[in-house]
This record gives sequence, C-alpha cells and structure tokens, in this order.
Amino acid sequence: MSKKGAQQGPAFIDLAAQYRRIGDRVGRAIAAVLEHGQYILGPEVTELERRLAEFCGARHCITCANGTDALLLVLMAEGIGPGDAVFVPAFTFVATAEVVVLAGATPVFVDVRPDSFNLDTESLEAAIGEAKSLGLRPRCVIPVDLYGQPADYPAIGRVAEANSLVVLADAAQSFGASLNGQKVGTLASYAATSFYPSKPLGGYGDGGAIFTDDDAKAKLLRAIRCHGRHPDGSECGQVGLNSRLDAIQAAILLEKLLVFPQEIVARQASAERYGEGLGAEVQVPKLTAGATSVWAQYTIVTERRDELAKACREAGVPTAIHYASPLHALLAYQQFPMALGGLPQAEWLAKHVISLPMHAYLVDETQDLVISAIRGAIRSLKAGVAAE
Ligand SMILES: *Cc1c(COP(=O)(O)O)cnc(C)c1O
Repeated sequence: MSKKGAQQGPAFIDLAAQYRRIGDRVGRAIAAVLEHGQYILGPEVTELERRLAEFCGARHCITCANGTDALLLVLMAEGIGPGDAVFVPAFTFVATAEVVVLAGATPVFVDVRPDSFNLDTESLEAAIGEAKSLGLRPRCVIPVDLYGQPADYPAIGRVAEANSLVVLADAAQSFGASLNGQKVGTLASYAATSFYPSKPLGGYGDGGAIFTDDDAKAKLLRAIRCHGRHPDGSECGQVGLNSRLDAIQAAILLEKLLVFPQEIVARQASAERYGEGLGAEVQVPKLTAGATSVWAQYTIVTERRDELAKACREAGVPTAIHYASPLHALLAYQQFPMALGGLPQAEWLAKHVISLPMHAYLVDETQDLVISAIRGAIRSLKAGVAAE
C-alpha cells in the first residue's frame, strides 16, 4: 500500500475531503456517546431513524449492522426460505444474491437494461416463468438502483403485483435519489440501504437501514435485528440475529446527514460536467425520465476499456470496474437458474463498464484531468486506426 495515495494524485472517492469539512463536529458527536455510554441502540440511533424516515418520507426506518443484513432481515421477516424463488439482477454487487442463498431460498438471475443498467421487466417475466417450471415458488424481486439511479419501480410493481411478489429495493447505492418526485425509501414495499463508507451516505464503519410503511413488519424487523425479541423483552416467534447499529455510527451519520443534501447537489453537478466533457467520446450514463441519481458511481461504457484504464493510470487517475463479472458467472453462483433468454446485457456490461472518480468534493481541475486523459486516449486510438 502506498502511504499517501490520496496525496499523490486524485482519489477515486475522497473521504478525507469530507472529513476536513465535518471532522470537528463528528469528533464532538462521538465524544458525547462516549460520555453517556449507551453504545448499542443509544439515543442517537433512535434520532437517526426518525431523521432518515423524515428525509425520505417513509413511515418507518429500522437501522441495522450493514446493508447486506438490511436485505437479509427483510427476507427473514417475509418468511422467505427453501423452495422460494427470489429474482435478482445478474449485474450488481454480490450481496444482492448472497442474502437469498443465506435465507435458504433460490436466487434466479434476471438481465438488466442497456440504458439504465437496472432490472429489465421482460427478463423478469421470463425468469418468473423459468422459476415456476423448476417447481420454485416466486416470492420476491430485489431490484437494484445501480450506481445511484432508481430502477423502474412502476413497471416492476406491475409485474410483481400480477405475480404476488414482494418488492424489496436494494437501495444501497441510491439513498437520496428519487423517481417521479418520490424519494428512494418509498418506491417499494421495502428499501434496504447501506452506510458503508464509500456509499453516498456513508459512515465511518458498517451500517445499514430498512425503510417500510408497514407497521407490523417494522415491529417484526426491530425484533429480528435483535435476536428475535421485541424491545419489551417478549418473543417475536421467529429466529433473529444480532444486527444493530452502534450509537457511535449513528452519531456520525447524524452529522453527515446535515451536509448530505449539499453533497447530492455537488455530485449531480460533477456528473453533468463529466457528461459535457465525455458525452461525444464514450457512452455516458443517462438518467431515465423522472429519475434523479445520487451518483454512487459515474460509470461509462466503452469497447476500449483496457486502453482507457491504462491512459487514466498513466495520467495518475484512478478508475475501478463495478462489476467485472456478472453474478451468474461467479463460482459460488453458477448453479442457480436464470431467465430464459439468458443474460446478454449483464455479460456485455461486465466487459465494457469503467467507473471514474466520483464524490461530493471532486474539484474541476481533477475532473479536467480525467476528461483529458480519456479524450486523449480516444484520439490516439482513432489516429491509430486511421494510420492502419
Ligand atoms: C454495498 C452494497 C450492498 C451491501 O452493503 P454493505 O453495507 O456493504 O453490506 C448491497 N447491495 C449493493 C448493490 C451494494 O452496492
């Protein structure tokens, strides 16, 4: 590891810049928790849940240990297990499918759309048919709001309703975004988000949250996250786990939530600037009508990925690939079924996406460096072709 990676060149996600802005307040907030001593589910956790629910307009927010548990807790609360099919996009972070296997159910892979990279409803219908033909019970769909943009919940909702599926939004990357004026957290029966440090609303450690409007399920989720016991000590009748948010993380997140709206605006401005600088050279991300994104990633699509990555590396610009393999190609997931018709988009994207530096403190000079590295690489590739 380089000692000072962030100092030598631009960072892929600059957490230090944010810390310089809010560090003093975060320090005081942590000290307050150390003073009162209620480290687990302390008053900051209750306050954070209230503020997050208010932020997005959901009736309930239930925090937990991480975004993966947030997904798993919902599957547990819905009693999803062996013999049940849960539909997940093949192009996402592995946690989306992992929780299905942990719950004892079967993930069925669905293809994504080439424009938004989010779940394709035609492929979802094909996957439901495939699950039925395998003797599985279709129970749930987990659309992912990839890179920060909400999936097409109105269309997914129609397919889900026709097939009695629970819709659980994997909003790990999209908290703070909206669709048709409705905030993420209220677009499906449940939304699960993550406060992993590099997410748009990240803590200084692990954390997660579930949003729902269902009073009874919210109560059950609070019990399941705490060994199956309600806060009054009575049993909920279901096996639970230990998935609580620390009061220290909640105190940090309360401070971060104060600057979050400004950070979203800054991310959106950076995304627009990238679009202007690169739109003529590569396929830049496009928002679907009615959608906003919190730009967890700024991911372009190019057939010259290796060359662009190399040019960026030489210019000192870090890039990343989210995700280099579709889930159905991973060793641990090859045995699970997929939509009839296959997963061509997921496979194509895994070979052609590349993510550029993106965070709320990206300065113009850094963006210009990224843009000129990519433009320069494209120009010399074109010149190379012309010379042949
Ligand atoms: C980060 C992420 C998760 C998991 O969140 P953790 O807090 O790291 O457990 C789940 N799904 C997606 C799409 C993610 O990006």
